[in-house]
Amino acid sequence: MTKGLFLLISPPLHELMNYLPEGVIIVDERGAILFANDAFSEMVGYESELLFGLNMLTLLVDVDVFGTCIATVMEEGKSLNAQTDFLHRDGSVIRTVKSVRMIRDSDSFRFFVNVRNLTDTDRLNQELQQSHRLIECQAGELSALLNSKHQELEEILGSIHEVIWYIDSQTLSLRYVNDAVEAIFGFSKEEFLTDKTLWQRQIHPDDRALVKTFFETLSPGQSQEICFRIFRSNGETRWLNSRIHHHKSLSLFIGITSDVTAAKSHREEIMFLAYHDPLTQLPNRAKLKEKLAGRFEHSAEEPFTLLFLDLDNFKNINDTMGHEIGDTILIEVSRRLREQIDPDYFCARFGGDEFVLLLTTTGSAEIERFCTRLIETFKEPFVNSDIDFYLSASIGIVSYPQDARSGEDLIKYADTAMYEAKKKGKNRFAYYHSSMQHAIADFLHVESLVRDALTHGYFELYFQPLIESSTLQTEGYEALLRLPHPREGFIPPDRFIPVAETNGDILAIGREVLRQACDFIDLLRQKHSEPFFVAINVSAKELHQENFSQTLLEYLIQRGIPSSYVKVELTESTLMNNLDVAGDQLLRLKAGGIRIALDDFGTGYSSFSYLAQLPIDTLKIDKSFILSLFDVHSHRHIVEAISTLAHVLGMSVTAEGVEESAHFDFLMDNRIDTLQGFHLGRPVPPQEILRRM
Ligand code: C2E
Ligand code: CA
Ligand code: CA
Repeated sequence: MTKGLFLLISPPLHELMNYLPEGVIIVDERGAILFANDAFSEMVGYESELLFGLNMLTLLVDVDVFGTCIATVMEEGKSLNAQTDFLHRDGSVIRTVKSVRMIRDSDSFRFFVNVRNLTDTDRLNQELQQSHRLIECQAGELSALLNSKHQELEEILGSIHEVIWYIDSQTLSLRYVNDAVEAIFGFSKEEFLTDKTLWQRQIHPDDRALVKTFFETLSPGQSQEICFRIFRSNGETRWLNSRIHHHKSLSLFIGITSDVTAAKSHREEIMFLAYHDPLTQLPNRAKLKEKLAGRFEHSAEEPFTLLFLDLDNFKNINDTMGHEIGDTILIEVSRRLREQIDPDYFCARFGGDEFVLLLTTTGSAEIERFCTRLIETFKEPFVNSDIDFYLSASIGIVSYPQDARSGEDLIKYADTAMYEAKKKGKNRFAYYHSSMQHAIADFLHVESLVRDALTHGYFELYFQPLIESSTLQTEGYEALLRLPHPREGFIPPDRFIPVAETNGDILAIGREVLRQACDFIDLLRQKHSEPFFVAINVSAKELHQENFSQTLLEYLIQRGIPSSYVKVELTESTLMNNLDVAGDQLLRLKAGGIRIALDDFGTGYSSFSYLAQLPIDTLKIDKSFILSLFDVHSHRHIVEAISTLAHVLGMSVTAEGVEESAHFDFLMDNRIDTLQGFHLGRPVPPQEILRRM
């Protein structure tokens, strides 16, 4: 500040003052020294740099003299001469006479003090008058200078785009504002200065409390920023950002304000993009996360319902019609969803064709009504370039807080329930149940065991003899896969095969089975020359690979194993899954010399019409019929009928699950060609088969 005001004295004037034999200082109303010439510095023994900012009172022997002097000057508005004792830096007292002249600088006052050493009174009297005149003239010059500076300052402030203003810290009435105010508010500077509270009335009603608290809490000496809205004279809303300082001694709030409407709307657009899906304009996953977090934080006790909605056949549309059409359909889906949503419900696009909805309701009747309504909205075809697309949706329902307490779990469980709805035939909704989560945990556990077994070669193929009833000789072996586990014992194939079928690992498993089966065939062929075969179980996923039969046949050639050594076992459902593809594969296998058995016969569709068309060698009666032969009367008739049917169609019959001699006797009597079961031999490792031979 000292330097700043010091600059107000023009360099020539500065120079001039230093030539003066008398001490000259300029102080403000509190006595702070704003300028001191060389003579004064010398008189009191301080370098002039040390004097800047120093209070003149600290240099006086009698403080009161100065106070009275200033008061008089201010009251009478003219110069005054008085005797004053100054303290030298070395502690000695300097008797002086000083003359004080007041200079007005807009709102504040400066005092021009001329100090004369009293050693030579005559010279003093003479020179005092002279210096008095000089001071009069200098003060006039200084005042004019300050005035011109004031105008210059006003011009500078007027050219600034920011609004510069100050208001009374008590009444908040406007004391000063620059021209820039007009561009922002639409009212002129003069209008503001006439109506000193106009600025307050232009503040947006929603932000008035904010502004009021801001001023109430901004302590003296502090500076802070605030962002709020105002109305322009034409009613338009603008966003302003102000940096405000609470001036301690002047009791003013001094501020610089700029219009940040454009930046703000740009930021809002960015915020919108950050929280919304650009395609459908629905809230996105981030927004959902925030919404859930907000709920847990502010209304943790309030129950709610979360729905996970997934389109059923969307992938087909995307794959066959392209993403562009897929996108327009997603937009239409979002529109329909939005239409169904109550104002206090929430709908976000979670990903591709997945949507998450939050319902404030928890009543099951209402939830079901709502879900039914959602499903109904998909009944109408989605029309795109004159093509009608039919879609449906599956919905999983989860309740907070019963089912889960975290957003992540809620979504996960609702997703699980949604899969359950799909499994049950799609186009429906399903409630989450904790057992579903157990099933998933178990799935993941088994999945990791399978992956481990595949990488580390833990899978072992066991072989169960198939006995020819006419000779009671072993005609072949069924290959049955075993997954040993160090703690859990053997994981049954009924547990790991479905997992592998779901995630596709069954293909790798199939290759492993074929490899081990061929090893076994090689081993056995070396030991005895009798013909035999190994029956390998093949899943739907394997059979529906386009090159399945070709790969199998090529592998046998590579291993040098005639195809007569291999039989494949397929279930009815495997075939029915896609009869065209399956039938084609069977024909090729058959042509390659591989025999085919229809496994678990009697449990599936049992459509006899297709049986006759497919190249099937053997019907394998499901073990459930054999195991309950003597408990369920009809089962004996079923076994008899299957046996007759097979023979009529020129096929052989195998019965599995022969556990007792009574089963054996009954099956022998009913012309069953091949028998398999614990009564005749359990599945065992290859070495065990060799040992028994
Ligand atoms: P599956 O093809 O029907 O196999 C016959 C099942 O009956 C085998 O169960 C066998 O151990 C069992 N079994 C044999 N004799 C008797 C008996 O007298 N009484 C009873 N209660 N059961 C008997 P396992 O080995 O547990 O296999 C279960 C299923 O897992 C198989 O049913 C088959 O569908 C599947 N599987 C086994 N190995 C493979 C494989 O390598 N690949 C494929 N894709 N599936 C396999
Ligand atoms: Ca089988
Ligand atoms: Ca079977």
